[in-house]
Amino acid sequence: MIERTLIIVKPDGVRRNLTEEIIRRYEDAGLKVVKRKTLKADANLLRQHYSAHVQKPFYKGLENFMSSGSVVAVVLEGDDAVARVRKITGATDPSKAEKGTVRGDMGIDSLEKADKEGRAIENLVHASGTIEEADKEIKLWFG
Ligand code: UDP
Ligand code: MG
Repeated sequence: MIERTLIIVKPDGVRRNLTEEIIRRYEDAGLKVVKRKTLKADANLLRQHYSAHVQKPFYKGLENFMSSGSVVAVVLEGDDAVARVRKITGATDPSKAEKGTVRGDMGIDSLEKADKEGRAIENLVHASGTIEEADKEIKLWFG
């Protein structure tokens, strides 16, 4: 089924000049960029985006990280897009993410290091987890 999903190149990806390389990974897999914008996310947007995480101990660090610089939000479209984009993105902890994934190949952080330093895991890119999340997140970021 043709689906749409959201990725967000996080501030670490933008700062490291990896935005185009990251987006190209998804395009190389046959996904199409249908919308794209660069912005600075504020606390209100992030609280809605990460509503499932606001009560968690890492949330404040996550909000600080995600608002620390520009992000690039991208809507991708293609067959089975939600699951395929998650697969290309890789596991949350870059030190555990499979080779061949964005986080596994380009990520330089780990959960262990982030926890020790009391901050969020810097893992380059967000990708919607389910079709329902994707619908909600695309509306939130692109209205
Ligand atoms: N995160 C974190 N510490 C944790 C778990 C998550 O800093 O222990 C951050 C990390 O940046 C992650 C985001 O919160 O990408 C959202 O967490 P989730 O479990 O939804 O991971 P994702 O879906 O991004 O792989
Ligand atoms: Mg998630």
